[in-house]
Amino acid sequence: MMDKLRSSGLRITAARLAVLSAISEKGQHRDAETIAVAAREKLGSLSTQAVYDNLNALAEAGLVRRIQPSGRAALYETRVGDNHHHLICRICGNAEDVDCAVGKMPCLEPVTNHGYMIDEAEVIYWGVCPHCQSG
Ligand SMILES: [Zn+2]
Ligand SMILES: [Zn+2]
Repeated sequence: MMDKLRSSGLRITAARLAVLSAISEKGQHRDAETIAVAAREKLGSLSTQAVYDNLNALAEAGLVRRIQPSGRAALYETRVGDNHHHLICRICGNAEDVDCAVGKMPCLEPVTNHGYMIDEAEVIYWGVCPHCQSG
């Protein structure tokens, strides 16, 4: 993770490191609030604005991927570059990774591209997770 940050050309600051490691340590998909709490545990204090600024910079540099489920807080993850999709629980908001539906990134090749140069396909499957089904 440190190497990736170095080669990204982003300036390495204590805040940036804390935010990045908060995402990778706390698991798959975390919202900014959860990331902020974990980063503050490391740094002592960090403003919410600084958390968002760092998340934006990391996302722009391609180190972090942001997914924005409609009606919910954006989620951040460090699994980038494979165009995987997500399964999200309508009740608790838990998110799971789902690999591309068939083969290697076929979703980037729709039947009709209308002349667009496509670089990302964002697919969210909505449902109810096993935990919420049993509750
Ligand atoms: Zn659930
Ligand atoms: Zn994911």
